[in-house]
Amino acid sequence: MLLKLFDGNEFYDVPIREGDIFLLPAHVRHSPQRPQEGSIGLVIEPARPEGLLDALEWYCFKCGGLVFRDEIDLVSIVDDFPPIYEKFYNSVDIRTCKSCGEVHPGKEPPPEWVKL
Ligand SMILES: [Zn+2]
Repeated sequence: MLLKLFDGNEFYDVPIREGDIFLLPAHVRHSPQRPQEGSIGLVIEPARPEGLLDALEWYCFKCGGLVFRDEIDLVSIVDDFPPIYEKFYNSVDIRTCKSCGEVHPGKEPPPEWVKL
């Protein structure tokens, strides 16, 4: 698996291989990438304090600008995230970068985005 991290300025790759354990500090923007069919990753999330919102963000592959952000009072990753994914994937307007005009491809990142 490759964990993409974003520190607000740059994207970083953290390869996590079979048997590895990686502890991610809180509030670090991250995106696990598992392009290998059938791969398994175990993610253990802390319980959220009452009232803390989670957010999903997509960034522009061309200029790095924030394309879309949506916040949610997360109860279930399985039930609560897909509607936000669909909102983003199904709207060209939402996927259009306000900084440079590039249209985010949606679900499938450019092939060079994940290099295992
Ligand atoms: Zn852009």
